[in-house]
Amino acid sequence: MVISEKRGIGMEYDKLAILGGTRIKETAFGTGSRFGEEEVKELVEALNQNTLFYHFGGKVKQFLDKFNEIYGVKYSVATSSGTAAIHVALCAAGISVGDEVITSPITDAGTVIGILYQNAIPIFADLDPHTYNMTAASVKSRITPRTKAIVVVHLAGNPADMDGIMEVAREHGLKVIEDCAQSYMATYKGRLVGTIGDYGCFSTNDFKHISTGDGGMVTVNSASEADYQRTHAFADKNYSRFGSQLHREPHLLAPNYRMTELQGAVGIAQLSKLASICDARGRHGDSLTAAVSGIPGVEPHQVTAGGRCTYWFYMLTLDPAVLSCTRDEFAQALEAEGILCSAGYIPQPVYLQPLFQRREAYVGSHFPFDITGITYDEGLCPAAEHILKQAVKLPISEFFTDQDIADMAAGIRKVAAHYSKSGSRVV
Ligand SMILES: *Cc1c(COP(=O)(O)O)cnc(C)c1O
Repeated sequence: MVISEKRGIGMEYDKLAILGGTRIKETAFGTGSRFGEEEVKELVEALNQNTLFYHFGGKVKQFLDKFNEIYGVKYSVATSSGTAAIHVALCAAGISVGDEVITSPITDAGTVIGILYQNAIPIFADLDPHTYNMTAASVKSRITPRTKAIVVVHLAGNPADMDGIMEVAREHGLKVIEDCAQSYMATYKGRLVGTIGDYGCFSTNDFKHISTGDGGMVTVNSASEADYQRTHAFADKNYSRFGSQLHREPHLLAPNYRMTELQGAVGIAQLSKLASICDARGRHGDSLTAAVSGIPGVEPHQVTAGGRCTYWFYMLTLDPAVLSCTRDEFAQALEAEGILCSAGYIPQPVYLQPLFQRREAYVGSHFPFDITGITYDEGLCPAAEHILKQAVKLPISEFFTDQDIADMAAGIRKVAAHYSKSGSRVV
């Protein structure tokens, strides 16, 4: 890029902005509108139906039809959130009191909420240090006679190593629920994530690739009608609504996690944009990796072998053996260059959060943790702990320009060069 060449030369450009030098970023990051006339049209149609109830209206149904077509699945169920989608999938998978469910320690709270609401016990497997996803070997090492399922998180648009994980699941007869909230259109060996395990869970909260304000979907990959009906019922109080039938005699406990017609309407329009959003993000993330590869002290966000990543965000990790600054200093210096970034992702692995440290999901109770007496100690997942201490997270947006990505790379290069211990810094 012409611009980054210009910046590579001359002392003025090499002095960090945080030390009074010239900022790398001269133009504003690209932005744009996520919602337009398409969403308005669908919303007006939804209101004109004179009902906003999913079972009576046509919008949630049309939304799911479109989603099923994109994903090549026969059945999916709409929910009120991604958290709800995961809880519904756990219910459909038969997860109950005292079961163990293996999942990732670097994720949104929504991954574990449903596990605990089923009074099952979250068990954390360690991650690959560069893809930030669970390794099959670590999952295998966590299996006990209580293990019933794996919730695989495809973090930040990056598919997990599904061959290995599915093999472990098959060996031990475990259900596999894919948490795809951050990974729309990501593929593993040509297959869309969310279609590989038993259930695939998605979120349409306002921060995801596509938004309906809040919302979620669960794919039912068995393609069995009974499985579909069971899953569907768990999102709707375990009432059974099919065609004109309505059975209100729940056999098991289930919440109301229904999606409304307003969400479905916005979702229809959003799905039309999904492919282009994911293409743009995939391209931007991959070009950032190409541009920062080989910078001493900077480990790019590695895409899983055989995978396509759709970058919900980009996360690099720093090598403290090569750089003289702390992670926080690096992020501050990068931010001063005008590059959007944050030091780390979640502050600590999920199991080090107060709920798990105090083993108190329900006030005044240690249930379900006291079923097995499990404790969640520091050091449980060393790779995950290391990642969160050394990570610098950069936003990726479909609205970013190629110049934005070039500037991000130039900023990272400049800051890394300044703090390089080996003195490769240009002066
Ligand atoms: C966003 C997210 C969820 C939860 O989705 P909500 O719609 O916010 O409930 C679950 N898992 C992951 C990995 C997420 O990023």
